[in-house]
Amino acid sequence: MKTLAGALLGTTLLLGSCVSAVALVPPPPAAACAAPVVLSPDGLPVGAVAGYSGEQLANAAAIVNAGGALGAPARAQLIAVMTAMGESGLRVLDRGDAVGPDSRGLFQQRDNGAWGSYADRMDPTISATNFYRALLAVDGWETLSPTLAAHRTQRNADPYHYEKYWPAALEVVAALAGTTVPTVPTTTDCAPAPPGDITTEGWIRPAAGRLSSTYGYRIHPITGVRKHHNGIDIANDCGTPIYAAGPGVVVRTGPTPSYGTLVVIDHGSGVLTRYAHMYPEDILTSVGATVSGGTAIGRIGSNGQSTGCHLHFEVQQGGEFTDPRPFMAALGVPL
Ligand SMILES: [Zn+2]
Repeated sequence: MKTLAGALLGTTLLLGSCVSAVALVPPPPAAACAAPVVLSPDGLPVGAVAGYSGEQLANAAAIVNAGGALGAPARAQLIAVMTAMGESGLRVLDRGDAVGPDSRGLFQQRDNGAWGSYADRMDPTISATNFYRALLAVDGWETLSPTLAAHRTQRNADPYHYEKYWPAALEVVAALAGTTVPTVPTTTDCAPAPPGDITTEGWIRPAAGRLSSTYGYRIHPITGVRKHHNGIDIANDCGTPIYAAGPGVVVRTGPTPSYGTLVVIDHGSGVLTRYAHMYPEDILTSVGATVSGGTAIGRIGSNGQSTGCHLHFEVQQGGEFTDPRPFMAALGVPL
């Protein structure tokens, strides 16, 4: 079975960097990059991808193509596949559960009039189309984390229920696209959107959001003192996922006087990345965990000396702070 990195790499080679950025995620990319993934009906991967196979992959392809037919961006297609994984395991279920006994189909849509007839809810293409219509109507869905976008579309009891299916959704869609989309023109105006590509070395933007403060001297927003800012700030809603920037081992998760809860990852060769201002309940990893670029390690917070929800991201090399932007740029990840 292909690894995630292998599958994504394969997609990159086949489709060019532009499409790979789209296939990988996020917020409104450049127009040329916003094109949906469109699959041909044949050429489904043989065997399992992320534990899904056969009919499940055919259903994933139907979901992707329903989005393509609507012109839904690739991010919406990924969210739809993730949601169906979390609701039905990519199977057209003719049963509901305790909280939704009348729920049916790939998305477990309720019998409340909003999702069409029984036949509609049991039809992969129609149910997916109705899912996309609801998703695209959610205010600001593009900038929400995928699980929150799905939650606002579907109203799951647990808003973070879908989060654990996101890596599998990336893997499945990349595998589907890699085997069925022969060529897509590469454009040069596809600036990586956060979190962006995973590079061949396995590095990725650590969070989606706006660069709100750079590395270097500044007047500290709370103390008013001119002080060196040892990292960069990426501002986004609290709760937005934070990802390991690259492969490594988690060497610290815990409280600090000013950084809130801090996660530190050791990447070897004296390189550390540090992720600050999280709330303790938002830590999604633990000391000793082996992570890859793109592994969710926590959620953006505003804990400690912070004036708003953001990730404070630092890089250390040989025990010294270094500007994360050139460091990450050298690894192929513009911030
Ligand atoms: Zn900062």
